[in-house]
Amino acid sequence: MPCVQARAKQERDAYIRANRRDVNEFEGVSDRVEILKTIHRPRKFDPLVKWVPYHISTDAVYLGLEKEECERLSGYAEGLIGTDSHGVAEDILRCLAAFTDIPLDRCLRTLLSSSSFSPSIAFKNSPPDVRDNLISRLEEDQENRNHILLALAWIGDAEVVSQFQKWRVNPPDWRGSLFIPPEDYSREAGWELAPDGQRRDLYFEKAIGLRKGSSNSSGVLKAIAPREDSCPWCGFVLIDLFHIDTSLFGLDSSQVPQGEIRIPTCEVCTAFGTVFGVSESNGTARWSERNARPEYLPEDSKSWGRLPIDPLQLGADRSPFFAADQFLPTSFSQLGGHPTWIQDASYPACPDCENTMMFVAQLDHDDIEDFSEGLFYAFLCPNCRTTATTYQQT
Ligand SMILES: [Zn+2]
Ligand SMILES: [Zn+2]
Repeated sequence: MPCVQARAKQERDAYIRANRRDVNEFEGVSDRVEILKTIHRPRKFDPLVKWVPYHISTDAVYLGLEKEECERLSGYAEGLIGTDSHGVAEDILRCLAAFTDIPLDRCLRTLLSSSSFSPSIAFKNSPPDVRDNLISRLEEDQENRNHILLALAWIGDAEVVSQFQKWRVNPPDWRGSLFIPPEDYSREAGWELAPDGQRRDLYFEKAIGLRKGSSNSSGVLKAIAPREDSCPWCGFVLIDLFHIDTSLFGLDSSQVPQGEIRIPTCEVCTAFGTVFGVSESNGTARWSERNARPEYLPEDSKSWGRLPIDPLQLGADRSPFFAADQFLPTSFSQLGGHPTWIQDASYPACPDCENTMMFVAQLDHDDIEDFSEGLFYAFLCPNCRTTATTYQQT
């Protein structure tokens, strides 16, 4: 019988190969809104059909949209909210929020009327009525409290900051229904409440995409630079995950150390815990004496493959939110901007001053090696010149 089944499978595969056809739904379509609707439309799997992807990347199509086109597309998304195609509406709103600056007020009100609160990034420029509606729902809506707090975190305006501060001082009755204090949701949107109750951003506004290719020793940015010293835990030779000239951020010395910073790490051990370093003012960097060995480390790490040296170069400037959600159709390797969390937001605390460290850059393993996954994150404490690296994957 296995022989008969194997032959049937062979015949089926041969039939699919012979009859499979390319279907290009974009042929003859020039309207960018129609193109995006087609890109976002879910497709039924059919072994006989090979869907031809659009020849321009989805994020680039969004970047080319005029205001009128953004409005048409958001109107289309609004019409899908609460329908069987609700997921398409969420995908479009996520892209509009990250890639454009079009107001989404009407869509947000429609989301609220169908008790939908995601994608939370879409709420970042909410008008006051949407914000107040969200706050008023928190008391009663236990089921959606988590999503409502995420949406509020993304709004993050003076009113939300003041509300979060009130909850920090006087925890609300429903605090017990959450895993973390309500004010800590702010980190999912890249900020925290400073001790004085003010908003403190945990990322740099300036964002530049990083694309595959050698930096050609440009001197302003290098990823994965070799080092001489070895990891005291596993013996692997260390790398500088990033070597950055901080003039790229366009900030003064009160916000970021001027000149070069290096962010050293062990590419093996940082997959299992935070690795701290110190970026000295003379341009060198070292392993931090405050590092604490992770509880688990693999025993066979010596046989692991090494990350390629110098695999990334500076690409185009982008909005700080261009990669702020892991479900966005874009590339994730990036200098500055808001990080792409695969799991919960996790900014290390500086081991020297205990302040939350700022996100500096991230490297998506998939951008530099095929069939890889996971993101390496780099952080800096601007006051102490302490650096950190972490890693997340699905
Ligand atoms: Zn190591
Ligand atoms: Zn510090």
